[in-house]
Amino acid sequence: MHAMVLDRAGVPLRPRELPVPAPGPGQLLLRVAACGICRTDLHVADGELPDPAVPLVLGHEIVGTVVAAGPGAERFPSGTRVGVPWLGWTCGECAYCGSGRENLCDRARFTGYQIDGGYAEYAVADQRFCFPLPARYADAEAAPLLCAGLIGHRALAAAGDARRLGIYGFGAAAHLVAQVARHEGRRVFAFTRAGDTDGQAFARELGAEWAGASTEPPPEPLDAALLFAPVGGLVPAALRAVGKGGTVVCAGIHMSDIPGFPYEILWGERTVRSVANLTRRDGEAFFRLAERVPLRVTTETLPLASANEGLARLREGRLRGAAVLLP
Ligand SMILES: [Zn+2]
Ligand SMILES: [Zn+2]
Repeated sequence: MHAMVLDRAGVPLRPRELPVPAPGPGQLLLRVAACGICRTDLHVADGELPDPAVPLVLGHEIVGTVVAAGPGAERFPSGTRVGVPWLGWTCGECAYCGSGRENLCDRARFTGYQIDGGYAEYAVADQRFCFPLPARYADAEAAPLLCAGLIGHRALAAAGDARRLGIYGFGAAAHLVAQVARHEGRRVFAFTRAGDTDGQAFARELGAEWAGASTEPPPEPLDAALLFAPVGGLVPAALRAVGKGGTVVCAGIHMSDIPGFPYEILWGERTVRSVANLTRRDGEAFFRLAERVPLRVTTETLPLASANEGLARLREGRLRGAAVLLP
């Protein structure tokens, strides 16, 4: 099968011919229909996350069709369309797994990081971590839901019942979470790189009542802010934008260092927290919501062989919505 392989961090992915993987016990073999490109892929490819299992197939927003099953993998019949997310395996035994926080599992393994992912024609996945997908979304539209959508949803939950919601970095996750937030009756304020008028227009199209540069203050204090851009300097900026009792949620897996800031902008019971990974329960809740609420998923599709081009466009912010690879 064709695959795009990371040999080591810091070098472009290389097209390779690999054997079709064999599903082990409890695993499914999927023919990949679409795989989203996530910012985490960029962090892995750039060496910002430690110890990727190289040589590695990236990609953890996999939409695929079951074509074979290993011993005991009977959850989805052959021909079923399923989604494979970032969380690929958990131990089921540690204190986190035992308390509904498998996203923090001490021994968790992740798709496209420790487990080969979906930048390929075929992938294997543990059936327990696959999701059935709502039929209303085409393959390319369903792919970004598997991480951008899911992590956005978990980040929004971490914001509590915030009415005035700031979103920093208007990419794949933000364009989905903005729609969910509007559906829930929240008010959305979008922050982009200074001068990104196209990104600001995109945010307004998706229901943001205000869109501006991340260096600007919002027109009124926010109740919470979600940070999707991997820029540590946005943490003090967002703390200044939220009012007393406000929460700043860092949703990315990697961020540049956060600069020092005066205690005064944290004072007043403001909170800074991160959101890490996902639980299967998050996925089930999110896909129930995505079934009920039609999300407008904006994608730019590329052939599998153009994975490096997709990563470059994400790095440079030259994308509207989410990039998706089609094998
Ligand atoms: Zn565990
Ligand atoms: Zn991701």
